[in-house]
Amino acid sequence: MDELLEKSMDELKAYISAMGEKPFRASQLYQYLVKGVPFEEMTTLPLSLRSELAKKALPLSLKIHAAYPSKIDGTVKLLYDLPDGNLIEGVLMRYHYGYTLCVSTQVGCKMGCLFCASTLGGCVRSLSASEMLSQVVCANRYLGDKGRVGHVVLMGSGEPFDNYNNVIRFLNEVRREDGLSVGLRNVSLSTCGLVPEMIRFADENLPVTLSVSLHAPNDEIRRQIMPIAKTYAISQVIEACRLYIKKTGRRVIFEYALIDGINADTLHAYQLSNLLRNMQCHVNVIPLNSVPERGLRGVSEKQVSAFLKTLEEKHISATRRREMGDDIEGACGQLRRHTMEGNT
Ligand code: SAH
Repeated sequence: MDELLEKSMDELKAYISAMGEKPFRASQLYQYLVKGVPFEEMTTLPLSLRSELAKKALPLSLKIHAAYPSKIDGTVKLLYDLPDGNLIEGVLMRYHYGYTLCVSTQVGCKMGCLFCASTLGGCVRSLSASEMLSQVVCANRYLGDKGRVGHVVLMGSGEPFDNYNNVIRFLNEVRREDGLSVGLRNVSLSTCGLVPEMIRFADENLPVTLSVSLHAPNDEIRRQIMPIAKTYAISQVIEACRLYIKKTGRRVIFEYALIDGINADTLHAYQLSNLLRNMQCHVNVIPLNSVPERGLRGVSEKQVSAFLKTLEEKHISATRRREMGDDIEGACGQLRRHTMEGNT
């Protein structure tokens, strides 16, 4: 089936024309698509076009399988059904400035980070740009009158830079003012540090916030918990970040999950501060969501505060990332796995 949501206006016009329709129908169709309207309800389009489209194309590339609202905060965990039977997940978070959607870029992930549940079953496949855009459309439909998705974080399951072209297409489409209208300044992309793609991304001239999952202050520790560290040294990752900052003028965010007995000592905080000295960056210190399958534990509140204090003393901008949706398995990949295992 053809996926329509990711088509540019020119592509959509060509698609409609090939069906013998007038090109102006393309913008009518697009307005329906970004609102997630089924073909049969696109009443201003000719019936012949609607039935032709229904034979060949999908108005939306996925649908919500289930929604799990948190009882603690406004967070909602969403599970989506893909047409091929796969499941992916997302998280909708309510902040004072509006709604943020955490979008998945792949079914599973092949990066193998020890602490991450998304990677436990490997990568099944990459998502198309339409499948990523459909997550935003579905979340908007779920919100209805309550609001719309104004911010996107590409921090769901998958490694965005392992699906580079589709992610770029997603970014160019999600920003469209005649469409989903999520400005790229409101988008964060998180990578485990694929250096060539980070360098390539710096040249795309897209004002996205780049987040880098660092999680270690040196190569030795990073190699223990992130297989990608065997391919790229931390020095290369940092160099690519400096290039990104230079080319875009934007600061880079480093993610650092504290894992008991591995990377959370004061010594590690000192090493981290040396690594990031004089860099336009911010560190998100994340209390680990423990993954029992891997026997990794998080740290106490006291340890989190001590780690942050050391960074502050060394003039590294750092905050503790707020945990949201703790009761709904907000962490990557956890809900999908439990649903597949029949536990929910
Ligand atoms: N593949 C990308 C984006 C997906 S993960 C990346 O690696 O950045 C989004 C963030 O959640 C990453 O920083 C990831 O390292 C972190 N993360 C994964 N599992 C976690 C866990 N159990 N506890 C805390 N953070 C986790």
